[in-house]
Amino acid sequence: MDASHFYGQILLPLPLKENFVWRAPAELSVGQWVQAPFGKKVLTGLILARVAPPAVTDKIKTILAPLPLPPVSGKMLEFLLWAARYSLSPAGALLKIAMGGIDLTKPPKVSAETLSATADPEANQPVLSSPQKDAAEQLLLADDLRPLLLFGVTGSGKTEVYCEAIAAKLRQGQQVLVLMPEIALTTAMLARFTARFGTEPTLWHSGLTPKRRREHWFAIATGKAGLIIGARSALFLPYADLGMLIVDEEHEAAYKQEEPPIYHARDLAVARAHIEKIPILLVSATPSLETIVNVRQKKYRRVDLPERFGGAQLPKVQLIDMRAEKLPPRQFLSAPLRQAISETFQAGEQAALFLNRRGYAPLTLCRTCGYRLQCPSCSAWLVEHKRHGRLQCHHCGYQTELPRQCTACKTPESFAACGPGVERVAEEAALLFPQARVALMVSDLLPTAQAAAELMDRMQAQAIDLLIGTQIMAKGHHFPNLTLVGVIDADLGLGGGDPRAAERCYQLLQQVAGRAGRAERAGRALLQTYQPEHPIMQALKNGDHTGFINAELREREIWQLPPYKKLVAVLFENSDLKQVEQDAVLFADWLRPRLLASMRLLGPAPAMMALLRGRHRLRLLLVTARKDSVQNLLQEALLVCKHHHGTKIKIDVDPYSFF
Ligand SMILES: [Zn+2]
Ligand SMILES: [Zn+2]
Repeated sequence: MDASHFYGQILLPLPLKENFVWRAPAELSVGQWVQAPFGKKVLTGLILARVAPPAVTDKIKTILAPLPLPPVSGKMLEFLLWAARYSLSPAGALLKIAMGGIDLTKPPKVSAETLSATADPEANQPVLSSPQKDAAEQLLLADDLRPLLLFGVTGSGKTEVYCEAIAAKLRQGQQVLVLMPEIALTTAMLARFTARFGTEPTLWHSGLTPKRRREHWFAIATGKAGLIIGARSALFLPYADLGMLIVDEEHEAAYKQEEPPIYHARDLAVARAHIEKIPILLVSATPSLETIVNVRQKKYRRVDLPERFGGAQLPKVQLIDMRAEKLPPRQFLSAPLRQAISETFQAGEQAALFLNRRGYAPLTLCRTCGYRLQCPSCSAWLVEHKRHGRLQCHHCGYQTELPRQCTACKTPESFAACGPGVERVAEEAALLFPQARVALMVSDLLPTAQAAAELMDRMQAQAIDLLIGTQIMAKGHHFPNLTLVGVIDADLGLGGGDPRAAERCYQLLQQVAGRAGRAERAGRALLQTYQPEHPIMQALKNGDHTGFINAELREREIWQLPPYKKLVAVLFENSDLKQVEQDAVLFADWLRPRLLASMRLLGPAPAMMALLRGRHRLRLLLVTARKDSVQNLLQEALLVCKHHHGTKIKIDVDPYSFF
């Protein structure tokens, strides 16, 4: 080889098992974006590493022109490779996210409006309360790079406080990324950043138009964008000079990407901050137990914002014992809740009802023989949606008309809706309060961000008296005149096969309750429950956050669950049950003798959704000590264990979903 070339491994945005080698002109360096011939195509990729000249070099192709983009830093490459190893995903699949789905050979013609100004740290400095000032000072302690939990109840002014930390980084000319659960990227939230920093932040999420995507990607990669607000995929972007990471609502399950490449954006953000040696803030009113345990073990710092900013009070939480209510069938609002709603309306205030079930009724059964309408290709009941007059499977989208007669016993007109969905609660509310303006807030009825924003505006303008919705209602909206929140079935989520069910239920209820009375009016929350004595319900009623955490952590320790143990799920899917069983058993048999004493292997067992979209699903669960690394072992198992062609194997490190 002459001195005019070297051999370089190139990472391509493809889910490849290995990285191939190209010949590269000597003036190029590691981290450079290049064009490489691949098969009959030319692909954009990154020079990953220099390698020794291979034995046979005559078939090796030479890379084409480098792209006129700043090279990606060594730390970014290290992060991509680390994330790939940890999540057992091909690094190329993560690079694909980093490239944002755009053609990097075509820089945008930057329009004046998108990059007219960069965020200005001095644009509009708010007057902070004294606890906010103290908290902001602690965030800026530069010599401690442990992740920091910024903890404060809903409405305590956490955003104002972390904006001070953002301003400090912007003054140093560095970039700041604020991660938000996608749903929270609302106009109201963005308006706050725009007001504070004098210009709209650079956004990154799945709803951007191709033109905006391209403009924003280049602004981020070339350092023109200072403040970036993004959903989980923004974590993988190649920042020109990243100075700080903020994960807002760090407990949100939306940070987990459930389809391959499977990853948890909060956990990877902590890893990226560690590799980049930059500060990271995790922000929440209801931190995850993982984060709380890390604080207790002094791996993370914690700063508290104890008071509600502006003197607003946390709502009073009242439990309604549904066993004592003895409601007639097909009625779901208890007497105390009905009473509270009418009092709220009389005072000229707004109310919201919350139920985490879409549709009209979660289950439809035959009154004669008990036959239940089930999806033909999933282990799931069909959900009735009155609005479209159809039954729907929420897992695969299968739809059908309500049959005129029972499929099993042939009795005509015998199907009955069982239990409430939000549509059914709205129907009941409309009958009880015919004068009230009732609106439904459900994801399937609000197909666009625009439609959701319009509904929020109507609620804010008090053009709605009663808002009825699913979990999307629990996110960070601000309704000053909302003083009552009713939770129809607070027990949904307690129990079941998900180790985080109680935690999630607590967080959700805490946040829903936090919707009420965020401004000067006191709010109240009424929770309908069949288990008022449950520790979670008691903790909610008493506002006893610590009490809940201690009770839940004890449970997790006894049951050997996260955050005390680590879990890795291996999911096998195939339309042929025999084949998938054989493959799962083979995999488990290979793994079992190779486990350390600190590891346990559970399964293979049918997944909770044993049948999904016509495919049979089996699951292995690996329980390990927190310090154990099982990635190498699983990687080897994937290589060594043969499986049928039709079997898909999905590995989920730190699983959150147990379907
Ligand atoms: Zn029947
Ligand atoms: Zn289905």
